[in-house]
Amino acid sequence: MDTFRNTLLDWPQAAPTAAIHTLTDADFIRSLELGPQQWWKTWQAQRLAELLQWVGKNDFTSLPVLRREEFRVQFGAHPGRSPQEHGALTQIHSSGSTGVPVAFWRSELAMRINFSHYLADHRRQSRDLHAALAVIAAMQDPHTGSHNPVAGDPWIYPGAQLVRNAVQFTMLEHAQWVCKHTPEYLATTATTLSNILSLIELNRLPAPRVAQILTSSGIVTPELRMRARRILGASIRDRYACDELGPLAFQCPQSDDYYHVAVANAIVEAVAADGQLAPEGICGNLLATGLHQWASPALRYELGEMAAIHPHCPACGVSVPTLSQLTRRKQSPTHSLPGVAP
Ligand SMILES: [Zn+2]
Repeated sequence: MDTFRNTLLDWPQAAPTAAIHTLTDADFIRSLELGPQQWWKTWQAQRLAELLQWVGKNDFTSLPVLRREEFRVQFGAHPGRSPQEHGALTQIHSSGSTGVPVAFWRSELAMRINFSHYLADHRRQSRDLHAALAVIAAMQDPHTGSHNPVAGDPWIYPGAQLVRNAVQFTMLEHAQWVCKHTPEYLATTATTLSNILSLIELNRLPAPRVAQILTSSGIVTPELRMRARRILGASIRDRYACDELGPLAFQCPQSDDYYHVAVANAIVEAVAADGQLAPEGICGNLLATGLHQWASPALRYELGEMAAIHPHCPACGVSVPTLSQLTRRKQSPTHSLPGVAP
């Protein structure tokens, strides 16, 4: 209540700029997803034209596929650059999902858009933002105690967040921690989740009721979904992202099989072995183009993963491209697991 009194009662003059950006971005992201197809197509065409001009290219479809090794060589040793209005640059080091380390640059704007997509996903999945979110992630800073308690942000996510460094504890300790804190939502990798479920059963721990589990890497199998539902009563809501470009697709709120492409962040293509676009519904190699990632641009970037693309979501009907049969790599990427914080 004190937080509310000290902040929200001073609306609108005291509303922080960053919060206003995030809230507006999330609304815009949802508008593109839920609006008519023409909205996101027009918006993407404009962003792509600007990006192509920035990198000095003309024709998007004739661009060669950018391999990870080429990306690594191109940007690892180069100072990043981006327009001044994109803000300051930060160098990101990633061991990456293929195990090939890469270093690249990211602007404040690109970070902001990444972050805003995760708030948009809270809305997509109808989450109660006053409920507790527990996060177990490898890239979190080391902390003392069982977790780092993050005070809720009254503007963005008023609920408490319990953020725990994955590598400081054993899997059994993670399982015991989840049982003790009974969070409404849990964010972690598919592998960690699978281990926690096994250990809860094996040790007959008092399993909490979890509403949703937010996964961000690894392979979410139908069997893992069944176990999460049986043991924790939880529905898995998977997110698909890569370190270099940020969020790429989010699980449909009405289906375990489909993922809505994050059209406000990236263009995602599926190509056949001959380099041509795979026919609708047929699996191809995934390529992604980051629309805000101008500091170390990745156009038609090979993700090393496969999926089929549909022109709209067969489950809920939204008019954005939708992935099915998404085949993830087994090795977990190192990117953080955003709940609210990226
Ligand atoms: Zn859908």
